[in-house]
Amino acid sequence: MFDKILIANRGEIALRILRAAKELGIATVAVHSTADSGAMHVKLADESVCIGPPPAKDSYLNIPSLLAACEITGADAVHPGYGFLAENARFAEILAEHNIAFIGPKPEHIRLMGDKIEAKRTAQRLGIPCVPGSAGAVQDAAEAERIAADIGYPLLVKAAAGGGGRGMKVARSAAGLADAMGTAKAEAKAAFGDDAVYLEKYLEKPRHIEIQVLGDGQGRAIHLGERDCSLQRRHQKIWEEGPSPALNADERDQIGRIVAKAMADLGYIGVGTVEFLYEEGRFYFIEMNTRIQVEHPVTEMITGIDLVNEQIRIAAGSPLTIAQKDVRLIGAAIECRINAEHARTFTPSPGRIAYYHPPGGLGVRVDSAVYQGYVIPPFYDSLVGKLVVHGRTRNEALLRLRRALDEFIIDGVETTLPLFRALVRNAEIQNGQYDIHWLENYLAAEAAAPG
Ligand code: ADP
Repeated sequence: MFDKILIANRGEIALRILRAAKELGIATVAVHSTADSGAMHVKLADESVCIGPPPAKDSYLNIPSLLAACEITGADAVHPGYGFLAENARFAEILAEHNIAFIGPKPEHIRLMGDKIEAKRTAQRLGIPCVPGSAGAVQDAAEAERIAADIGYPLLVKAAAGGGGRGMKVARSAAGLADAMGTAKAEAKAAFGDDAVYLEKYLEKPRHIEIQVLGDGQGRAIHLGERDCSLQRRHQKIWEEGPSPALNADERDQIGRIVAKAMADLGYIGVGTVEFLYEEGRFYFIEMNTRIQVEHPVTEMITGIDLVNEQIRIAAGSPLTIAQKDVRLIGAAIECRINAEHARTFTPSPGRIAYYHPPGGLGVRVDSAVYQGYVIPPFYDSLVGKLVVHGRTRNEALLRLRRALDEFIIDGVETTLPLFRALVRNAEIQNGQYDIHWLENYLAAEAAAPG
């Protein structure tokens, strides 16, 4: 097992990793920018190292600084969390060159899944169902038109290097295709420095359903059920739940088995998420994330399995100790990502938290790194915390969520709490009747409403 883990991240995920390390008896090193010296993960870690000025490129993304911090503290492993360097294959390789373990999959798997065209090819080869689309990158409008004639409209032009919903454009007819290609390429070039794009059939009313997997790289892999992350604003998830209100036990079992077998065949190590769109009883692979995800607590609540603990143990070379037959999905869990943003305009609202009172009680979990008096810096994402509830049934979880949201007080900054208080009271949400466009439509209707 590792002696000392350096946590190359900040905020709630840094704290989450720190907690798992502590429970495993592993010493922890926090790193922070000058803007984060008062952060909770810095206060709670055994040691901390300042790695640079506020901009992430000079601190949390600064590989030489992180390496120096490992050297100074004698850390023998690095946990990257999510975001920042979590899916940077080169970072994982550099750590390996310095005999420091990267708590994550093999660099080749990070690289493979980071290229969406390669990821899709691999998924297909491994027997995972995919969205119909181009076989690879599409060069120009003429080639796109030939493929479009095959798949039909509407079509989605997507960036091979994609992430965060950028470089994605819908074409509803041949007339719009050249435009969509041009815009997607330009956006992809600007965001990722790579203008490669590919085509996919655009699904009109899908849900976003993802399967959590755990592999030990020694031929064993299991799945831990699904999370439904259909409630999205600008392709960003804001509410995640498991099990999905749309799936039955057979569908869950079937897709879970396909994914677990694929991961075993790939020799995948650690935690990963295989993401699908789901429409009319069919699954379509969109991408795989090779890291711990923001919404992982949903799975932890329904399985009772500590995913970060497993991730650390597997990275240290332990085999998988949980068999598929021992994975039981109990009850239902819902997570709300509460941001320091205005609940209607979504304008970021950094600043000092004047008063903070998180909810508690049975089945309530708050993953947050803020505290009363904490100043949310303007440099990073606006996540204040994740409220996660668990109930024996989805209905119990909803009632608990409503209660917990009403208890939650965060004063001094604007938050998206009011949005969630409205969502939990919405009949369609309560009935689980929503797809990936539901939230955008709801927000548009709210914005148009008088008052
Ligand atoms: P990114 O890596 O940019 O997040 P994804 O491929 O994961 O891109 O897609 C993000 C979101 O975009 C999905 O959750 C879904 O809402 C939408 N999307 C992606 N592919 C399709 C498609 N073929 N049809 C309809 N919507 C899609």
